[in-house]
Amino acid sequence: MKAAVLREFNVMPAVEDREMPDAKGEEIVIRQTYTGICYRDILTLHGKFPRTNLPLVPGHEVSGRIVSVGEQVKELREGDRVSGLIYLPCGKCKFCLGGRENLCRNKRTLGEAVDGSYAPCVRMNERSVVRVPPGVDESSAVIAACVTGMIIQALRNRARLAEGETVLVTGAGGGVGAHAVQVARALGARVIAATSSRWKEEKLHDLGADAVVPSGNLSKQAKEETGGEGVDVVIETVGGPTFRESLKALNFGGRLALIGNVDASSVDLPLGYMILKGLEVIGSVSSTRADVAEALELSRRGMVKPVIDRSVTLEQLGEAYSAMEGRSTFGRVLIDLAGAE
Ligand SMILES: [Zn+2]
Ligand SMILES: [Zn+2]
Repeated sequence: MKAAVLREFNVMPAVEDREMPDAKGEEIVIRQTYTGICYRDILTLHGKFPRTNLPLVPGHEVSGRIVSVGEQVKELREGDRVSGLIYLPCGKCKFCLGGRENLCRNKRTLGEAVDGSYAPCVRMNERSVVRVPPGVDESSAVIAACVTGMIIQALRNRARLAEGETVLVTGAGGGVGAHAVQVARALGARVIAATSSRWKEEKLHDLGADAVVPSGNLSKQAKEETGGEGVDVVIETVGGPTFRESLKALNFGGRLALIGNVDASSVDLPLGYMILKGLEVIGSVSSTRADVAEALELSRRGMVKPVIDRSVTLEQLGEAYSAMEGRSTFGRVLIDLAGAE
């Protein structure tokens, strides 16, 4: 089969012929229609993840139909539609056994530790996928783990978002942000979306943002939008450049959740301010199978619609990466694998 292969950091993955993967033991092989391009893939290209094993098929956003199953697979059959986690959990540690497999220390991430999804067929295991309910389209299924499910993990499990609270989403025009606006709405929140791109403002209103503000002076604007109080939760998808303003945008008891591929620079924490206002800064990583199942359910009910900027072929990866790095995309970029052999 054709696959994009990363052989050297900082050199774009090139299309090569690769052996079709086969399924042994608990493994399954999935035939995909699409895979997503994540900002993490660009960071992987630049060597930012130390556990990357080269040469490697990048990509970790998986969905499709099972085309073969190993002899120990119990619940799944050929032909089943599934959506994958972005990693293979060990299945044995306290986190895996407690339903928090996103924290598994022995997890192997697709497109880093093992071959990933930039190919028509990808190998995973039974523990790392969720069945896709009827009525969910492929582009929703492919973003269920790394986009929608990751946001559910952050908003509901980590930031404990309650109905009627106000959420500020930074970087709202990005692949994560455009879906965070919708998930926050679906969970009953009022949503303020912040973007540095004027042309994305109307699109964010269309996705259900109650207010859209420019990325500068975030705290002042968040307060104006909340009668001077501030917001209950910030979904911080930008990181260092907006962190300080995001923290100041919080109401008493506010929670700031860091998700996605934030700029990983260090920040100063104003400790007295945080104590007096009872603030929390929370890291939130990836998603669990329960999050993915809930993401698929929100998609099935039409509450989260996939925001797809464009889809490209495996040969057009360079163009897609440049557009993402230049922030000229709105929502997710997909690789169309339907015609790839
Ligand atoms: Zn991703
Ligand atoms: Zn584990």
